[in-house]
Amino acid sequence: MPDMPLELIFGNYMAWKYDDSTWIISFMEGTEYIYLLEGDEYALLTDTGYGVNNLRAFAEKLTDKPILVANTHYHPDHSAGNGEWESVMLSEGWTLDAPAVEREGAGPYDLGKYPHPDYEKKIVHDGDVIDLGGRKITIWEAYDAHCNSSLFFIDESHKLALTGDEFEAAQTMMYDNSWNSDAPYHVDKRIDNMKANAERIKSVCGEDWKLLPNHNGTPLSTDYLDEYIELADAIYTGTATIEDKLNHRFVEMDPKAPELCRVRHKHCSIFIKKAEVLKIYGCRK
Ligand SMILES: [Zn+2]
Repeated sequence: MPDMPLELIFGNYMAWKYDDSTWIISFMEGTEYIYLLEGDEYALLTDTGYGVNNLRAFAEKLTDKPILVANTHYHPDHSAGNGEWESVMLSEGWTLDAPAVEREGAGPYDLGKYPHPDYEKKIVHDGDVIDLGGRKITIWEAYDAHCNSSLFFIDESHKLALTGDEFEAAQTMMYDNSWNSDAPYHVDKRIDNMKANAERIKSVCGEDWKLLPNHNGTPLSTDYLDEYIELADAIYTGTATIEDKLNHRFVEMDPKAPELCRVRHKHCSIFIKKAEVLKIYGCRK
């Protein structure tokens, strides 16, 4: 692990205003983001970070509106801080990804300190709308690609698509990271779902929309959606580039790292188990 105390990596936030009522909060040395969307009556916080029990106080300095909380998905760096709030909106798939949070060492950083360790898990579904007052956020359930529990948050009024960890500029992690031996992982299904997610988001986005992912650069051009669609096709036709070197400080610490590769097409790439992607690579030449 790095020399820096974990509190400083996970609990050291910086925020800036993206537009008149949208805040970007960054942590993990600037590589991970949480979003705060303000309406006239409520604000919506998407994700709760890695759990250092100091995000709520930080977010409440940014807005005077009551804060509703949701998880983009149930991975520890997005949900470990849930216990700071009384209630958190989650997808039904959270149970499949729960071992990623509950395994030893994953977080929360210190559950015992949380005011609401038994917070309410409010299950939301595809098509549900969160009305913040003058700003409506539509929830979509993602097809299982990066994980089993992703939600997209579609904000037509501000032309924003919050994509969680399903699409990012550096690389999207597409290996089995649920830590759940009972959760299904089929490489062809995951790649097909990645493409289907990109196509669905593309169906509502104009060129003036922005993607708000949760890692490694934000906001993103919607051009990435086209490139991820092409990447899925390039894997099947065997024209995507496979690189063994990951070039990622945190993922290289993962015990799964020696089995992973980067698969690249144009500006986008994924991390995936090499043995898995080779099962489908070039199968549609
Ligand atoms: Zn994730």
